[in-house]
Amino acid sequence: MEKLYAEIIIDISHEALDRVFSYKVPFSLREDIRIGQQVTVPFGRGNKERKGYVVGFSNRTDYDENKVKEILRIDADAVTAESRMLNLAYWIRENYGSTMIQALRTVLPVQEKMNRRSARWIELKIDPVHGPALLEEYFGKHYTAKARLLAALLDQNRISWEQAAHQLKISKSTVDSMVKDDVIRVVTEYYYRNPSQQETELEPPALLNKEQQKLVDEFKQDLLREEHRVYLLHGVTGSGKTEVYLAAIDEVIKRGQQAIVLIPEIALTYQTVRRFTKRFGERVSILNSRLSKGEKYDQWLRAKQGDVDVIIGPRSALFVPFPNLGLIVIDEEHEGSYKSEQTPKYHARETAIQKASMEGASVILGSATPSVESYKHALEGKYRLWELTKRAQNAVLPQVYIEDLRAELRAGNRSIFSRRLRSLMEDRLNKGEQMMLFLNRRGYAGFVSCRSCGHVMECPHCDVSMTYHREGVLKCHYCGYELPMPKTCPECGSPYIGTFGLGTQKVESAIYKEFPGVRVLRMDMDTTRRKHSHEEILKAFSRGEADILVGTQMIVKGHDYANVTLVGILAADLSLHANDYRAGERTFQLLTQAAGRAGRGDKGGEVVIQTYSPDHYSIVTAAAQDYKEFYRQEIGYRTLMKYPPVWQMLVIFFSGSDEDQVKELSGKTAEVLKRMELLVIGPGEASVVRMKDQYRRVVYIKDADYQNLIRAKDHVEAWLEQQQEKRNVLINFDFNPMNSY
Ligand code: ADP
Ligand code: ZN
Ligand code: ZN
Repeated sequence: MEKLYAEIIIDISHEALDRVFSYKVPFSLREDIRIGQQVTVPFGRGNKERKGYVVGFSNRTDYDENKVKEILRIDADAVTAESRMLNLAYWIRENYGSTMIQALRTVLPVQEKMNRRSARWIELKIDPVHGPALLEEYFGKHYTAKARLLAALLDQNRISWEQAAHQLKISKSTVDSMVKDDVIRVVTEYYYRNPSQQETELEPPALLNKEQQKLVDEFKQDLLREEHRVYLLHGVTGSGKTEVYLAAIDEVIKRGQQAIVLIPEIALTYQTVRRFTKRFGERVSILNSRLSKGEKYDQWLRAKQGDVDVIIGPRSALFVPFPNLGLIVIDEEHEGSYKSEQTPKYHARETAIQKASMEGASVILGSATPSVESYKHALEGKYRLWELTKRAQNAVLPQVYIEDLRAELRAGNRSIFSRRLRSLMEDRLNKGEQMMLFLNRRGYAGFVSCRSCGHVMECPHCDVSMTYHREGVLKCHYCGYELPMPKTCPECGSPYIGTFGLGTQKVESAIYKEFPGVRVLRMDMDTTRRKHSHEEILKAFSRGEADILVGTQMIVKGHDYANVTLVGILAADLSLHANDYRAGERTFQLLTQAAGRAGRGDKGGEVVIQTYSPDHYSIVTAAAQDYKEFYRQEIGYRTLMKYPPVWQMLVIFFSGSDEDQVKELSGKTAEVLKRMELLVIGPGEASVVRMKDQYRRVVYIKDADYQNLIRAKDHVEAWLEQQQEKRNVLINFDFNPMNSY
């Protein structure tokens, strides 16, 4: 496309994003101009010079050509807060695929400008020694309102506007008249809504142990040398990672800089903020979607003006405009919630690293089970690998048993509890200790397995599990390969082949049946719909109001219960057979986290992992708490199958109400891509073929080089521009997807 016209936004604020102006690009600038640049343009009737930002180009304009004004110049080295934000938006657009406006909306998450909270005070302006004489005068002239106000002010120096109006019944005109006479003045004080207010006393930092101190020393050294790195802090839960974050942030604050701390979910805010407030007092704030508009706006402003040093929040808190950012911490960096589910589908980890490098800041990624991506970067020296090998407070790791469910069936046990889990549950009930039963259902989408031998139906081309469809066929969602649903297990011939139908409700009723009289709390999507129900359930459990807590992954995060001495994982395979390549990694993370819940107090603990695949490396290495061995095996699989992070993957997702149009456009797109000599898989149907009457298809592209995938995206975007039928089909890009389609 020729860059004849540029789309310009004049004012970068969220509410102005929809107002795009068309300007002519003079011939002399056509070579150099690009999206994201700051330019100077004539604006309004007087053609006053204004700063503008380029968000797009076109080769025609909808306006009268003779009235369209020309861009005056490119402001090449502008480094304002706006231009920094713009550059990041541009980077997001390029790397994840979206329009510039969508990218700008992402980096400007505050919805609208709000009035600041303020309070008005009335103060005495005259010297109080002259007060009594003036009071006399007012009485003499029967100025009773003035006299009331003056008397009050002589008494207490300042009174609030509300108090004057309501208690003293002083009118505005009285105040105005006294202001005019220079007797009093009105002062407006602005203050911020502070959502993170927690009554906590400052606590002195823990004396770091040797391992922690070594890392913090290294961080200090790097800061001194102005070396801004990415550190991957690998340490089991309780090994003292948070203490390291706190010490590193302390160093950054001492240099007059600020820090952003990302947490994977809002539910963890309270405990995190509490810990940070104990260390840094009031200069800590939060930013998340549960705040009111006013609260959000104020936190944004406080950060921008440097009135806070630390902002804590989920993914979107990354875009806080600190004047002098020094550090970004990402806790539990492996969590899927760091990837945006809306276009642009940016990953907060990668975006944080980009932002940090643009602003000269460091990044600390922390996890007990690092993502395969990050660990690979660390081993290759792109990130600095930091390790904490011991638990800070000498708590012992639990004893872990793997129970083979195939053997249970052979022994005639058809219960959902293995014999070992059952007897340990009885033991805990007798002792009055608590337990957690965990069912990892997320990501599970109708895989088919044999209850007798554990065989799982997998796609021969993609090595991911195939999904059962109602018509009695099995499908692979990466490549579209299909098989009829077998009647007997192709491996052992047993008739016990089918989909896995275990839910938390079933678990709950099974418990009541086998252990009459026990007290059960259940936590899943159904029981946590209300706003605080999540915390209520956990609190009830920690008060000992139930013997057993049954739940999905929601129960495995962050909470410490000293009285929990048994954790049962009912079907470790469930997450293993999600139909995407991250299934093994997710299973390892979930099992490690779940196992870590047992024995946090001084009683020690036991963990039972029930599975049909007792030899699978994700399960074996999780039971042994051996991350390094897990990584070795997982990276082998990813290499062999050309999956990320060894190869890079791009999903192009099509949806529309007209099935034929979606089919045709996705098919043509795949052809265009194949001509670029890329490895193209599909198009195939999405795992949910139709949703809300929209028909859904996907094309996968793999390449060793991410840049080639960006090129592919750009090419497809340009090609789509010329297609007629695209209008009724929605197209989305997702790089290295976290979820299956
Ligand atoms: P993680 O973030 O890795 O889960 P934390 O930083 O929360 O670990 O530490 C776990 C527990 O150990 C916390 O209660 C913390 O206060 C304590 N702790 C951490 N480091 C030390 C230390 N050096 N001395 C004493 N207690 C510590
Ligand atoms: Zn079988
Ligand atoms: Zn396949």
